[in-house]
Amino acid sequence: MQTALDKKYGQGKYHVADTTLGEFDGLRKAEEGNPVGVCAGPKAAIAASKIDSPIISMSTQWRGKAGNPYPYSGDKTELLDIGSEMDPCKTCALEENESIYVNKANEGVK
Ligand SMILES: [Zn+2]
Repeated sequence: MQTALDKKYGQGKYHVADTTLGEFDGLRKAEEGNPVGVCAGPKAAIAASKIDSPIISMSTQWRGKAGNPYPYSGDKTELLDIGSEMDPCKTCALEENESIYVNKANEGVK
């Protein structure tokens, strides 16, 4: 997949994450949330930690063919003009987990 992305978008533009964050990083599973580490967020945090650009926000986007099953329901929905923005799962939405993602993602910032 990395080779395909490099070929299509240029070397190093996108990074495939082959590892994820887990309980050993302090993540906690929320009741009715996904198991820790299975979502794109913790994997993206690791991929982001390998580049030196600051991470200024996170967004969960629905990429499926059918309609977005969990449309974003948080603050400032009026600012979003796209139907692909999703609510994170309950595990990813835990504040302590979000800050672990953000801290990891910004590890590479100089
Ligand atoms: Zn999640």
